[in-house]
Amino acid sequence: MYEYRAPRRELSFVLHEVLEVEAVLAALGRGEVNRSLIDEIIEESAKFSEQVLSPLNWQGDREPPQCVQGVVTAPAAFKSAYQQYRQDGWPTMAGPAEYGGQALPSLAHVPVGELLCSAAMAWRMASGLSEGAVLALSKHGSDVLKSAYLPKLISGEWAATMCLTEPQAGTDLSILKTRAEPAADGSYRLTGTKIYISWGEHDLTENIIHLVLARMPDAPAGVKGISLFLVPKRLDGKANGVSCLSIEHKMGIHGSPTCVMSFEQATGFLIDKPGGGLACMFTMMNQARLGVGLQGLGLSERALQAATHYALERLQGRASHGAEQPNQNADPIVVHADVRRMLMTIKSQTEAQRLLVYYTYLLEDTLTFSSDAKTREGAALLASLLVPIVKANLTDAAFEHASLALQVHGGSGFIRDTGVEQYVRDARITMIYEGTNGIQALDLLGRKVLMNGGAAVQLMIKTIQNSLPSELPQQVQPWAAALATQLAQWGELTALVGGRVRQDSEELGAVAVDYLQYCACLLLGWCWVRMAIVAARQVSAGSAEAPYYQAKLAAAAFYFERLWPKHLSLAAGIRAGGSSLPRLTSEQWSA
Ligand SMILES: Cc1cc2nc3c(=O)[nH]c(=O)nc-3n(C[C@H](O)[C@H](O)[C@H](O)COP(=O)(O)OP(=O)(O)OC[C@H]3O[C@@H](n4cnc5c(N)ncnc54)[C@H](O)[C@@H]3O)c2cc1C
Repeated sequence: MYEYRAPRRELSFVLHEVLEVEAVLAALGRGEVNRSLIDEIIEESAKFSEQVLSPLNWQGDREPPQCVQGVVTAPAAFKSAYQQYRQDGWPTMAGPAEYGGQALPSLAHVPVGELLCSAAMAWRMASGLSEGAVLALSKHGSDVLKSAYLPKLISGEWAATMCLTEPQAGTDLSILKTRAEPAADGSYRLTGTKIYISWGEHDLTENIIHLVLARMPDAPAGVKGISLFLVPKRLDGKANGVSCLSIEHKMGIHGSPTCVMSFEQATGFLIDKPGGGLACMFTMMNQARLGVGLQGLGLSERALQAATHYALERLQGRASHGAEQPNQNADPIVVHADVRRMLMTIKSQTEAQRLLVYYTYLLEDTLTFSSDAKTREGAALLASLLVPIVKANLTDAAFEHASLALQVHGGSGFIRDTGVEQYVRDARITMIYEGTNGIQALDLLGRKVLMNGGAAVQLMIKTIQNSLPSELPQQVQPWAAALATQLAQWGELTALVGGRVRQDSEELGAVAVDYLQYCACLLLGWCWVRMAIVAARQVSAGSAEAPYYQAKLAAAAFYFERLWPKHLSLAAGIRAGGSSLPRLTSEQWSA
């Protein structure tokens, strides 16, 4: 089994050479977070991810947490890794300083998240959920709640969950039933059942803080009647009417206990105002959606490493032009063009996706730290456009990449000991939770694109155009020209879809997924143009790392020759629209 190595060089390329984050952060007034600090954070978290976490990935899959009479016990190694993670101060990176956090910009702490996801995604989910809760509470909680809960959540002494889903309410949260009755002391008593709650119960921490969506007795129907409550597992040292009824037996992420949670007159505290629950939850969900995109990136990276390693080692057949290793019985399978097609597909998408995700976090940092209101407004518009694209595109790709990595392994990929089949099983959930990828597409097209009359797309197009220098290296020119042509069509296609949706609202759902993937295809093309400019300049400057940069240019060429044309079929699907999705009768469906 291949053991994961943190992609230090790739992170350095994206963060320092392409995004130039040191200068970006200095311009945002966070100059103390310089290159050497970022590299130090990456190096230390790389060691933790490689040495401590990566071996747990496999272990968590084989020996998952167990639930006995409501007590969920994680593998001992999960617990000790969590203690080390806490002692080393990792959970404090993002939290606000007044409650014990380091308030680091995303560009400094998100790379850690990427490495943790690659190393052991199921384990990482526990701390990732706490980070989301810290954000929601910091933004929407009262001072009393913040003082009582943030310090221990930020230090990692306590963990948190996100409790939305109920048996009858998954995508459609408007029909959730959990009730919150006001108590005389201003708190609430919550009663109801939540399902599929990740890390809902466990023994990594002594207390778990549940953020729960529920309805008050007089609340209006629908989403306007949903409020958010903070419900601790233990309150003032005593049990608080929260219990785990069971954990699910599932396809992947076995290391993460997925719990059925029962709330029986549990004491909870209102966060924000009555009826404001979904808005608060969106704070957490936006961050969580980017976090799931990051899970996709982490899994893709791990799949790429395993597949590349195997392709260089496994000896089968001969290169078509004659033996490359005549002293061996056969050549390594990387000599076969089809194997290289699979590797290049994973590599060229994953590397561009890494830039896309960190660019999105750069926008988040701009939104947080910029002193200029107009700059913040633009960053907010672009980030809102990119969040659903990052979530859906990176997770769809992670599943594709894991499957391709398995294919590179041939029959051994299907055997558990290689470890690759776990990546396929783990990747599949990322397309479903935090809003299915179909829902991400509806969010993108319906809310982020059409609700503001296409302003976000127009700003994105302008931003892309302004990002490219007038003098381009010769090799990059045809790719930049293809991008420029397609940017004009993006605007036209968006206007076409907008017109159709105004006439028939079903058109939205009919084309949303193709539209999201079309946008992603263009954005990844932009990422490749940006990376290729840096690489081509380094090659012509005679860089000592020329082979590294030449590989970048080869991946860019592969992307534009083999993957970029997908936008044509996606655009065709969008143009075909809803009329290509007939409503068959139930007899026709089941005939
Ligand atoms: C392992 C795991 C961990 C999870 N962790 C958590 C957690 O920590 N906290 C939590 O609250 N939840 C969690 N979930 C729940 C998860 O977020 C939901 O499963 C997900 O949102 C989908 O809801 P659902 O399963 O009810 O599917 P449904 O809502 O029944 O959807 C079924 C299908 O119909 C489609 N669909 C539904 N409505 C529409 C629509 N309006 N338009 C177009 N298509 C539609 C969906 O896209 C999907 O393809 C977890 C789930 C799993 C499996």
